[in-house]
Formats: sequence, structure tokens, C-alpha cells
Amino acid sequence: MYQSLSEDQIQIRDLIREFTKKEIAPVAIEYDQKNEHPTELINKMRRELGINGLTIPVEYGGMGYGSVEQCLVTEEMSRGCLAIALCFGYTGLGQLPILKGGTDAQKKKWLEPVVAGEHGISFCLSEPGAGSDVPGMSTKAVKKGDKYIINGAKQWITGAGDANAFTVFAYTDKNRGTRGVSCFYVPRDTPGLTVAKKEDKLGIRASSTHQVIFEDCEVSSEFLIGKENLGFIYALHTLNASRPFVAAMGVGVAQCALDHAARYSREREQFGQKIGTFQAVQHMLADMSIIVETGREITMKAARLSDNGDPNLAKYSAIAKAYTSEGAMKCALDAVQIFGGYGYTKEYPVEKLMRDAKILCIFEGTTQIQKNEIAAYVVKEAASQK
Ligand SMILES: Cc1cc2nc3c(=O)[nH]c(=O)nc-3n(C[C@H](O)[C@H](O)[C@H](O)COP(=O)(O)OP(=O)(O)OC[C@H]3O[C@@H](n4cnc5c(N)ncnc54)[C@H](O)[C@@H]3O)c2cc1C
Repeated sequence: MYQSLSEDQIQIRDLIREFTKKEIAPVAIEYDQKNEHPTELINKMRRELGINGLTIPVEYGGMGYGSVEQCLVTEEMSRGCLAIALCFGYTGLGQLPILKGGTDAQKKKWLEPVVAGEHGISFCLSEPGAGSDVPGMSTKAVKKGDKYIINGAKQWITGAGDANAFTVFAYTDKNRGTRGVSCFYVPRDTPGLTVAKKEDKLGIRASSTHQVIFEDCEVSSEFLIGKENLGFIYALHTLNASRPFVAAMGVGVAQCALDHAARYSREREQFGQKIGTFQAVQHMLADMSIIVETGREITMKAARLSDNGDPNLAKYSAIAKAYTSEGAMKCALDAVQIFGGYGYTKEYPVEKLMRDAKILCIFEGTTQIQKNEIAAYVVKEAASQK
């Protein structure tokens, strides 16, 4: 599947591969250690790469590409640095509720600044008391005339330090359960919206993660995305579409771990021979290669299902996300093992990979939540085969 990329797709992948090698990989450790958003670099990427609107339809000024191209870009950037890939790519998630549910006028108004590289949008679903349990969220938007008043707190919001706007999920009718959730586009400068404390994280340290608080935050009804009470459906469509991108991040991190480990195995000598000649080391490299190759294939499968609007997308995007995120974690751990004591220090790049990889098993639905979803499909399929 990966072999059957079009000329266009290969060109996009190679453009990002080159840029990543020259501009992202060399500064990855520096921004990790500084725990700092790479503002200059992200501005340069928005100005020069020409891919801000990669998946935004042509009628809204974008390039009109799909999930396959987005996965190719995401894998290459994540191979250089997962955190910097997120600093550039968080809008890919934040804009999805608009693409999935917004009206034509909303898409035009809110996506054109994204294409121009002027706007970042963060996705606000999780709350302090509701991560996996999305329906357990408590943020509310109460309608008053032609306005909504939003109150609540959103937790772990990627890109919030940089974002110009937020797509925010809130109950408009709690009595209706998930059929009473709506989604709003809230500009950062709206009174009542506060980007609060920055989290001090284990990994992806260049990517800013904040709590975002809404206190009597008033937005006009023009900021309701699509229709009232359809927000939960927009959230589900968003997550199904974005999980292949997270899977591509996993492939990028796994490939990066393999790159470093394979190179080191040819350099380091013990017992008078290169460590790459020991079968135990070779098998770790082989396992990593298996994860990279199979992970890339399943990610491309999910991306193609997404582009074709296939009803099996939810199952395969969960499989791709679960497999590649756990796979990336294993590859990063094995890379540290192959580097031995040096791998455990900040002088070598693999300890960062290990810290970065873990987030893939947590955000956009933990591995356990992906497995719940996969199992539900498998059981349903078995029932229909009776
Ligand atoms: C760095 C970072 C960035 C993030 N970015 C964003 C963002 O941009 N926007 C956003 O909305 N959210 C974001 N998140 C939130 C993320 O999606 C949640 O952390 C995640 O969904 C898990 O929720 P939780 O942390 O509340 O864990 P919990 O839901 O409390 O889970 C704790 C443990 O219980 C397990 N568990 C829970 N329920 C079940 C179940 N039913 N079956 C089996 N096991 C279960 C989980 O798998 C996990 O192991 C981010 C999180 C982090 C850490």
C-alpha cells in the first residue's frame, strides 16, 4: 500500500523529509531541554512549507488533500521530533470539528486564516474529571437570546499556548446526554476565556499543554459550530479521522528509534566486535523493523478508509492508533537498551524518544479505550455472522 503512492504524494513526503532533516531534527533536543515552543521555526514552517491547508478543501483556500497525505507529512515530521510535529500540527485536530460540522460560511471564515498560516486552533474536549469518559464532562453552554454563556474547564489542551482559537465541547442540554452536546468556536481574546497553567510534562516538552478555563464566557450564536446538540457526533467523527494521524506519529517515532539504534549498533564495540553482530541486538532491531513496516501499512489502510468515507474507519483507526503507539513505545525502549548506559543519558537522543513516545498511548483515547472500541466491533461482527 505504501508502495503505491502517487508522484504527488512522494513529492510531499520528500519535501517534508528534507525539511525535517535540515530544520527540525537538529533543534529537537534543544527545544526539549528548554521546554519551549519553537515559535520562530513554526512561523517559518507556516510561511515556507505551503501545507497549512493540506487537508482543507480547495473551496476554502486549501490544497484539498486527504488523510493519506496528512499521514505522510505527520510521519516525516515526527521522525524528526514528535513535539515539534505537534507544535505545527495541533490545528489539524482543532480544525476538524469545523470541517465535520461547520456551515459553508463558518468554514470559509475560520479556515482561511489557517491556510494563510495566521491562525492555530486547539481542540478542547477533555476535562479535569473527564478524559476517557467524555460524556462525564461538565462544561455547559447556556443559551441566552442569541448568545451562549460557557462555563467550565478543559484540561491538557495541546497548542493552547500558541492557539488563536479553540473548538470547545459543552453541554447545551445535559438531560439529553451525548445528544445534548454542542461545539463552539471560541477566539482566544473572548472575555471569560483564560489560558491557564502550562503543564510540566515528561515528554513532548516543546509542545505547550495548558488548562483552558471558561468563566461566563459569552459567544454569539454565530460561534455555534453547525447545529446545536450535534457536538458529540462531530467529536466522534473528529477522533475517527484524527487517529490515523496519531498512528502516523507512532510510525515516525518508531522509525526514528530504529534509525538511531541501527546506526549505533554499527559503531559500538564490545568483546572486540560491533554490538550489531550479537543476535540479541539484531533481534531487537528486527522487532523494531517489523513494527515500523506493519505500523505504516495499517496507518495507510486507516487513512485510505478515512479518505473514502468507509464505515469501517472507526475500527481501523483504533487498530492503527493502538498498534503504532504501543509499537513506538517498544521501539523507543529497545533503542535505549541498544544504547546501554549512554541511552539513559541526555547526551544521546533516544531517552527523549522514550519520554515522547508515551503520550501516543494516552492522548486521543488511551490504548485501553482503543481496545474497547476494537473489541466492540469484533463482537458485533461475530454476532452478524451467526
Ligand atoms: C500531553 C497531553 C496532551 C493532550 N492534548 C489534548 C487536547 O489537545 N485536547 C483534548 O481534548 N484532550 C487532550 N489530552 C487529554 C487526553 O485525551 C486524555 O488524557 C486521555 O483521553 C485520557 O484521559 P485521562 O487523562 O482523564 O485518563 P483517565 O480517563 O482517567 O484514564 C486513566 C486510566 O484508566 C483507563 N481507563 C479509563 N476508562 C477505561 C475504560 N472504560 N476501560 C478501560 N480502561 C479505562 C485508561 O486507559 C487509563 O489507563 C491530552 C493529554 C495529554 C497528557
